[in-house]
Amino acid sequence: MKRHSSCLVLNAGSSSLKFSVLRQVAGNELQAVLGGQISGIGTLASFEAKDARRRVLAEHRWDAEQSQQRELLLAFVLDWLGTALPDDRIVAAGHRVVHGGRRFSRPERITPELLMELEALVPLAPLHQPHNLAPMRILAASHPELPQVACFDTAFHAHQPWYARSYALPRELSDEGVCSYGFHGLSYEYVSQQLAAQHPELANARVVICHLGNGSSITAVHAGRSVDTSMGFTALDGVPMGTRCGSVDPGVLLYLMNEKGMGAAEIEDLLYRRSGLLGVSGLSNDMKVLQESDSPDARRAVELFCFRCAKEVAALAGSMGGLDALVFTAGIGENSPAIRAEICERLAWLGVAVDPEANQSRAHDISAAQARVSVFVLPTNEEMMIATHTLALLAEGEDEAELVRREEYTPCWTAPIPATC
Ligand code: ADP
Repeated sequence: MKRHSSCLVLNAGSSSLKFSVLRQVAGNELQAVLGGQISGIGTLASFEAKDARRRVLAEHRWDAEQSQQRELLLAFVLDWLGTALPDDRIVAAGHRVVHGGRRFSRPERITPELLMELEALVPLAPLHQPHNLAPMRILAASHPELPQVACFDTAFHAHQPWYARSYALPRELSDEGVCSYGFHGLSYEYVSQQLAAQHPELANARVVICHLGNGSSITAVHAGRSVDTSMGFTALDGVPMGTRCGSVDPGVLLYLMNEKGMGAAEIEDLLYRRSGLLGVSGLSNDMKVLQESDSPDARRAVELFCFRCAKEVAALAGSMGGLDALVFTAGIGENSPAIRAEICERLAWLGVAVDPEANQSRAHDISAAQARVSVFVLPTNEEMMIATHTLALLAEGEDEAELVRREEYTPCWTAPIPATC
């Protein structure tokens, strides 16, 4: 007899599959039980699982031929979970999906029809979306009885005003879906909820959240809702990242094509994999490595990152007409006091100031006394958000879910100018 109901969360990338299991405990709370990942999919795959205290529970490796077979790798995870968690019944699987397009502004139950609609969005996120969809199909075939839910990274931004979502491009392109979607929405949603729970006085506040990790973006959240964000049509836009360039003048792309004869694949590789911290430093995409390095180019990469983050925070504060709180999250945001300090120093004119001791000691509230803007560090938890959404959607029931969707969601491109982003 299984004693616990649990949710499996899957986050599939091009060469990795991250998984975690969250268990329902008293009062509908969720508790992370374990997590891990398969990396090296397609080349030499290896599996590692850790418990909630990050102690290694199991490891496994596959040969080159087996490493190509996603079905086999996912089946291994499910079999392993069955033995590792004999008291848990996996009641649903929640998937992180990078793109929900213009249609999906809330989690959706995965059906063959939904899979077709998500497939149609592949051109909007060709590097991520196909990999997100693969485990859904595998699970639907191998465990048809297991309910699956898609949770979208774009959904949290879906209600932004039309002008925050639009590019000044010809109208037919906007109508086709060439507009700003924004990403990291599950992280922003989790952090916003945590902020609201811990600081009810900020319920109507103008907050900028900096999700600074290997992929980085920054979002303006007013009264709990996303109103503007640094990433746009793709996850390339905004601040520089580990290997992604962030915003560049589109004229640079024309130069690369016309003067250097570069093709689409070459430019894609340059922008996604050879730019950002790696491109500027010539050393590493890893912020920790750069901060520990003596190389002047590593220092330049860090300085450029902080400059661009501060500039983006200021722009987003402008989108809200002011700033009441600034929040740092994700790998860099949560773990690097030096980066937080450097970004905040550049924002002193906005009333941002950190207390050096609180900042250094990993405190939650790192604001300096008397600072006009509160500054917080808040760990993100996208897996928790996905599991929460997944179980909530199942609890709602199909008919009710449909009703809520129709009532709550007025697509932002219908107002005030119909049919634009
Ligand atoms: P992802 O976007 O892949 O989820 P993470 O949120 O895990 O990435 O963030 C990874 C980034 O966080 C890396 O650049 C890493 O160097 C950085 N990071 C983690 N710990 C520290 C630290 N103590 N100091 C500086 N950077 C750190």
